[in-house]
Amino acid sequence: MTTAFNPVFANLPTTIFETMSRLAREHQAVNLGQGFPDDPGAEDIRAKAAEAVVTGWNQYPPMMGLPELRTAVAAHYARHQNLALDPDSEIMVTSGATEAIAGALFALIVPGDEVVLFEPMYDAYLPLVLRAGGVPKFVKLKPPHWRFTAEDLMEAFSPRTKLVLFNNPLNPAGTVCPVEDLTMLAHFCMANDAIAVCDEVWEHVVFDGTHHQPLIALPGMRERTVKISSAGKIFSLTGWKVGFVMAAPGLMRVLAKAHQFLTFTTPPNLQAAVAYGLGKEDAFFDAMRVDFQTARDYLADGLAALGLSVLNSRGTYFLNIDIAPLGETDDVAFCQRLVAEHGVAAIPVSAFYASDPVKTIVRLCFAKKRATLDAALESLAKLKI
Ligand code: GLN
Repeated sequence: MTTAFNPVFANLPTTIFETMSRLAREHQAVNLGQGFPDDPGAEDIRAKAAEAVVTGWNQYPPMMGLPELRTAVAAHYARHQNLALDPDSEIMVTSGATEAIAGALFALIVPGDEVVLFEPMYDAYLPLVLRAGGVPKFVKLKPPHWRFTAEDLMEAFSPRTKLVLFNNPLNPAGTVCPVEDLTMLAHFCMANDAIAVCDEVWEHVVFDGTHHQPLIALPGMRERTVKISSAGKIFSLTGWKVGFVMAAPGLMRVLAKAHQFLTFTTPPNLQAAVAYGLGKEDAFFDAMRVDFQTARDYLADGLAALGLSVLNSRGTYFLNIDIAPLGETDDVAFCQRLVAEHGVAAIPVSAFYASDPVKTIVRLCFAKKRATLDAALESLAKLKI
């Protein structure tokens, strides 16, 4: 019977995030695995959503998203990234970034097209590429810098490359792609007439004074880039699943055709609240970064004080530790022991590789209250280092 199912999904395990959160519940562990803050999020934004549920429109919103949200998205990116986007023809609202990515892949790939992916890659990417009939070409990034070279791109790109799926800032590495590397990637896209689908959901969650550079703004990329972001990450309300897609009108027309048969629309009350949130003053976004950066430093310093080897994190909710100095060679086994015996859930980074993974890196989420981080550090202190 199972042979009748599509093997892309039939052969998949449950996502590592769900698996580790379940283990965290089972063992009553501190959950630094799945990436979500334990702060409830800005009250005024949540109040807007509540108000919109009670007094607002609860029937289908327009397929492309509420006009007030599309206008707010355009104003937001004009203010924060100096982008000029037309709310009517270049912005679409989706039910989270994953829907946006799925829609883009389904709309743009013809079976047999080559798709360039960077490992470690978010775990939804590969199944979606394969389901769309894409032929993956991998660029393998390695710690501690997780950077690619021109040779890497030369090997992965070809005239058959239809699309590159690119995540910046990069989850799980916690890196921000340097501008010179972005420029190199843009050149490869242009030389091979490829479309860049950019998952930039972490664009606001960057540290140490970093300013996010969207690939769509690089010379020659405006017409061939699909920029994707998500209110879930911008406002640390990860359950909301309100995403945005930005692309030139020619691309947007086909992206909208895929979206109309995936989710069609996204809850209008959440859209109204996100429209309000996007207009918040710069100080709101600055404070969010300061809070996460402080939490990053607190966890990194605490882990280093325990003798653990901590890799740099410049963005996302995550930092990584290298477990090789502990004599560990299997991040999955290590994470299983960590949750069962030490009461801390983490994510083994090998889960983000299709083959031949890096097996000694473990991801920890620092987007947590001080008490949560303290509880994790206390448990980790019992590790034999
Ligand atoms: N983006 C989240 C993370 O990286 C997980 C999302 C999910 O659980 N599907 O942890």
